[in-house]
Amino acid sequence: MSDELLIAALARALEPEPLRRASHHSTQIDWFYVFAVVGVHLLALLAFLPWFFSWTGLLLVPLGMYLFGTVGTCVGFHRLLTHRSFSCPRWLERTFVLLGTCCMMESPPYWTAVHRQHHQFTDEERDPHSPLKSFFWSHFGWYMIRVDPQWRAELLQRYAKDVMRDPLYAFLERNHNWLGLLVISWVAFFGAGWGIALALGAPMTDALQFGASILVWGVFVRTVEVFQATMCVNSITHLWGYRNYNTKDNSKNNFCIAILTTGEGWHNNHHADPRSARHGHFWWELDIAWLTIRALGRIGLAWDVSIPSPQLAAVKTALEGH
Ligand SMILES: [Zn+2]
Ligand SMILES: [Zn+2]
Repeated sequence: MSDELLIAALARALEPEPLRRASHHSTQIDWFYVFAVVGVHLLALLAFLPWFFSWTGLLLVPLGMYLFGTVGTCVGFHRLLTHRSFSCPRWLERTFVLLGTCCMMESPPYWTAVHRQHHQFTDEERDPHSPLKSFFWSHFGWYMIRVDPQWRAELLQRYAKDVMRDPLYAFLERNHNWLGLLVISWVAFFGAGWGIALALGAPMTDALQFGASILVWGVFVRTVEVFQATMCVNSITHLWGYRNYNTKDNSKNNFCIAILTTGEGWHNNHHADPRSARHGHFWWELDIAWLTIRALGRIGLAWDVSIPSPQLAAVKTALEGH
């Protein structure tokens, strides 16, 4: 297949007509995002080369998944910024949000705006990433289409006005400054590994190798895991799983995705009560992000924590009785 035909086929797969009209997306692929997303996946594959291995790097994967994925994305971006499921000190909110920004999933205001639009039009024409268009669209495609700047501004104005009021979040959105923070975090990981090894007396080549292992495992592998897990919520949990609540959308609770995302995969529960800080409604629906918020509450760092509404609690009680 020629390059032109390949690009045309990819464009057709990425641009379902109805969504393009409804969301005012441009008709062009955003090659920057394509290269960035494909690039970070390829860089993560370096983990298969023994030269890039270190036990410290390996240990940084679960730590990073919790810190950047659970705390940054699930707690910071999703439950705090988007749904205001609880309140916390401003410095703590900003810390969570900066961690989430390092996950390569757009600026905090834009992430919030897209997700709020998803909740308003779930599995309808104007849902930004419904799998009703196609699985590929919901998982990857919607993220790789060039967004018209005018439409982006309108989306932010409509769905993320409150978030844009914070000068830090507005700065991260302006001129895609969030990308700068992302790159700084990558350099910091490498620099920390390299510098610590040198300080401990390692030769330069060993120090470079250690820094590279921290970068590959502590950044690229972790970034791909958090990115894929989050995209699975957009795709898989609107396709496969069980439902506790009869919501008007196709949201499902998916055990595997819930484990992978530390709680976000209880997505039918979440769509039934988006404001609730707790997504796992039954004792066996493990929700580590919720446990984190609850722990913050116990030490006085979280308050006004929303829990499942009384109506849902009644449905839940009825379900437990069966
Ligand atoms: Zn959803
Ligand atoms: Zn949500």
